[in-house]
Amino acid sequence: MELTEISCKTILNPTGGFLGQGFTHTINLYRGCALGNTLCGLYCYAQWNPYHVRGRMWGRFLDVKAGAVEAYCTQYDRLKNAGEPKPIRIFMSSVTEPYPPQERTLRRTRELLEAMVGRPPDLLAIQSHTPLVVDDLSLLRQLQRRCDVSVHITVETDKPRLPASFPQQAYSPNVRIQALHALRAAGLDAVATVSPLLPLDDPERFADELEQACTRVILDHYLLGDGSKDGQRTKQTAFPRLLREAGYEEWTTLEKFHEIVDVFRSVFGGPERVGVSREGFNASRNKVYDGPQCVSAGSGT
Ligand code: SF4
Repeated sequence: MELTEISCKTILNPTGGFLGQGFTHTINLYRGCALGNTLCGLYCYAQWNPYHVRGRMWGRFLDVKAGAVEAYCTQYDRLKNAGEPKPIRIFMSSVTEPYPPQERTLRRTRELLEAMVGRPPDLLAIQSHTPLVVDDLSLLRQLQRRCDVSVHITVETDKPRLPASFPQQAYSPNVRIQALHALRAAGLDAVATVSPLLPLDDPERFADELEQACTRVILDHYLLGDGSKDGQRTKQTAFPRLLREAGYEEWTTLEKFHEIVDVFRSVFGGPERVGVSREGFNASRNKVYDGPQCVSAGSGT
């Protein structure tokens, strides 16, 4: 893994497109991803971003941004303290992992969270593939007293292992579900992102496990949510072919996806805590969007 420190002058990046309904900014404290050689790296859409990759092999490099806290404070003060305060609704991260294993020593995400306690955004949604976000539980609880906080952990499958033709998962589904339990028990909005949906061993049991572990769930399929028309980005990868070769053809279809959404809605007692694709990602704790509709999720979840 090639680790490089790079300087950054801005860290709050205005967002639109897929995240534009619910968020004003994204934050990516790293460039590249240390999990790029694991299962999620296979279909990760960030690998197609030439600005981030710069001709390098996905999964072989991690650029670490220096000066992010200073950049955040400067941008925050401009947005909140100069004239009419502007909304700051942050999705962290959109093209990297905010809790790679290196975060345990580098603590760039933790430093930024500490700064956010003093300069709280209106909303912070953390999106991670790892259980390491639990390291910052007490800090997240502090931050939650100042602003809305959601923590999304991706759990795409209940299978501990896919066939050998697929790369291994960096963290088992079980440890990620345990992290969701810890977040929810701490009173945080703990969101399981089943995205992209992978083949499941037992959809009902998986939905039931997630129902107990999280406040809400977001389901997505690469045909809907990889940021390109009809999943063209993902179709450039080996992922759909590997699914077909392993006998999982039906999981490459939206028919199967909608069948699984129905299973989740049945187990979760309705659509309120089950978001789908773009609308699900853009919803906040009290609202889950489902296509053109929007319903209140209520409290106590
Ligand atoms: S953790 Fe996220 S950014 Fe990293 S390879 Fe996996 S999907 Fe991509």
